[in-house]
Amino acid sequence: MTSEALWHDILNRLTLEIGTAAAKSWLHPLTVGKSHQNGLTLLAPTRFMRDWIVTHYLEKIKSYCMTLSPNIRDVFVDISSLTQLNDSPKPASALVDLPKPQDDGALMGIDMMGAPLDPRFTFDQFVVGKPNELAYAAALRVAESDKVLFNPLFLYGGVGLGKTHLMHAIAWHIKSCHPQRKVIYLSAEKFMYQFIRALRFKDTVSFKEQFRSVDVLMIDDVQFISGKETTQEEFFHTFNALVDHNHQIIVSADKSPSDLEMEERLKSRLGWGLVADIHPTSYELRLGILQSKADHLHSIVPNPVLEFLASKITSNIRELEGALNRIVAHSTLVGRSITLDSAQEVLRDLIKSNDRRVSIDDIQKRVAEYYGLKLPDLLSSRRSQNIARPRQVAMYLSKALTSRSLPEIGRKFGGRDHTTVLHAVRKIDEILTQDKEFRTDVETLRRTLETQ
Ligand code: ADP
Ligand code: MG
Repeated sequence: MTSEALWHDILNRLTLEIGTAAAKSWLHPLTVGKSHQNGLTLLAPTRFMRDWIVTHYLEKIKSYCMTLSPNIRDVFVDISSLTQLNDSPKPASALVDLPKPQDDGALMGIDMMGAPLDPRFTFDQFVVGKPNELAYAAALRVAESDKVLFNPLFLYGGVGLGKTHLMHAIAWHIKSCHPQRKVIYLSAEKFMYQFIRALRFKDTVSFKEQFRSVDVLMIDDVQFISGKETTQEEFFHTFNALVDHNHQIIVSADKSPSDLEMEERLKSRLGWGLVADIHPTSYELRLGILQSKADHLHSIVPNPVLEFLASKITSNIRELEGALNRIVAHSTLVGRSITLDSAQEVLRDLIKSNDRRVSIDDIQKRVAEYYGLKLPDLLSSRRSQNIARPRQVAMYLSKALTSRSLPEIGRKFGGRDHTTVLHAVRKIDEILTQDKEFRTDVETLRRTLETQ
């Protein structure tokens, strides 16, 4: 295969993975450089782009490269103007520590306000089951409706359960049916950085105008701005301005509005529209998703293998997908069909860690043991320091090691309120920074729980 053909194939695969917008901005401008023994050389038009490719895409490019052409050992990225003068490319790894660019968007001339949409995240490719039917129906209604029905639509659920997928699906749908409508999707993190940048460059007026002129604004993972008061304040104003003009807002978070650690008025405002939660997956949904993904990958995965995955990988859909991809990639590489045995072999480490998930019960038991207490005492309402502190440690570890929400943890600790749990988490965080001995205790507990 020529280097050009190889790069063409890599480009196609990477586009599927990172989306057309990102591929267009970053990968299309690259050209293939003079061939180098056992190495592929790519040329970027500017130093900035070269650095960006190296930090963001080089690993992916390398792994596709090695799959597609095993005799290629390394990939180099260089600047086109430099290689014309000097044709021995340096290994990319040596080039990473160059000064970081300040601005990623201006140079590329792309709209940096929103984030690119993943072409796989459409309604067609979203499998619906009991745990996500409400969120799906709500998202579809918002996407299809010409009027604003509920504002905002608030989607929440644990990681990897499909929040981002649904938001992108709404954006794709609106973009295809109403191309004139301005839809912006971005993470709360990005919203904050843009806001901070606007403050720094004293450009808040155009920041405000940009966001307030959109028809549909989607902010993903809004829990990110917990504790960031100025950003919350700005978000609140943007939010009100859009609602006043009857523009649609869609927000996602990992917890319900009332569980978010935010200003009261913002929390209550976020709960005004429709709040739809996505529950942890069920076996049926996991199996359905696996079947659909296997079809999309055009690979034959026997049913027992899918059933095995659905019963073993229960944490979230992202991991489930990762496991399936691994099995398929492995079988393509070794050129053998997929069997239950080969799947079990390929996923041995992953399944071990899924089996090892810590539960709140384990945590309570271990903590009580460690501090020489009886379990009922740990869960009781006694407030003496020698019981209350271990109880707070157990709450803290429950928050750190499980995906349970604060109210759920509160319930498991004798029906306490979520604010008590929050207080415990903060208190322990505080003591951890001050007391070395205490820190050792908590770290030991954490390690034994994680490796039990
Ligand atoms: P979240 O934003 O909730 O953390 P994502 O939307 O990123 O989760 O989903 C994680 C992965 O799981 C994505 O690849 C997504 O396509 C996939 N996924 C989630 N829910 C579904 C579903 N119901 N059907 C098909 N794929 C799904
Ligand atoms: Mg997400």
